Amino acid sequence: MGARLGQHFLRDESVRDAVVGFAHARPGDLVLEIGPGRGALTGRLLAAGAAVTAVELDEVIAGKLPGMVGDAAANLQTINEDFLRLDLREFGPGPWLIVGNLPYAVGTPILQKLLTWNGWTRAVLMFQKEVGERIVAGPGGADYGLLSLSVRARADAELALEVPRAAFIPPPNVDSAVVVLTRRAAPRLPAAEEKAFWRLTKIAFTQRRKMAAGVLAKALGRPRAEVDAAFSAAGLEVSARPEEIPFDAWRALARALCS
Ligand code: SAM
Repeated sequence: MGARLGQHFLRDESVRDAVVGFAHARPGDLVLEIGPGRGALTGRLLAAGAAVTAVELDEVIAGKLPGMVGDAAANLQTINEDFLRLDLREFGPGPWLIVGNLPYAVGTPILQKLLTWNGWTRAVLMFQKEVGERIVAGPGGADYGLLSLSVRARADAELALEVPRAAFIPPPNVDSAVVVLTRRAAPRLPAAEEKAFWRLTKIAFTQRRKMAAGVLAKALGRPRAEVDAAFSAAGLEVSARPEEIPFDAWRALARALCS
């Protein structure tokens, strides 16, 4: 049960303080906490004066949570549900601050779900360290890929803190990292461009070691000269590999090749 639910509880007080500090919660703020567990972060968020809605999948833990935060429970609402099954529109316009020390197995799907919702402004989320590095990666390295692009389309992300496995009880087999996301009021990727952008990037990143122009020409049935011209117009070398192509250049390529 513990492994499936990713139940590694934060025991390090300084890391608890740091995670809550990154949220900048102030009195009256609405905080949506994902996976509160035994309240390591919940108590601090309530102490900052926030109204906390906590979504916890484990029924036993969810039932005990109000008793763990004392008088502050008046500002706590606990929802015993799988976050991935919630209809986030029911949370209203917020704006919400999101906080979560996420279970490793579902950290990425939870992030993807959050990215499609515009009810939040800032999110402080703990991931497996390697996932955190992929989320914040820019072009030029092996960490950069579809996950980095999907985050960049809607938010700014920074890796705020690396957290060693010893900070948790029981300790997991991997290290962790706290990522702070700020949702952009206007996405970098307009809705009208989404389909073409993701079609193109998914094709290219399935063969990330190959030159993107060749892969795209073949998959799209376009003459290589046309694809090369689109690369040059986007400011790219025709030999560029997917991991070298910045977000805005992907947009330019999608407009040129998929419209
Ligand atoms: N926030 C606590 C802490 O820092 O000590 C607990 C973090 S623990 C890594 C993850 C928590 O998420 C567990 O309490 C687990 O039961 C809960 N959880 C796992 N999957 C979930 C899901 N799909 N929706 C909501 N909560 C989930």
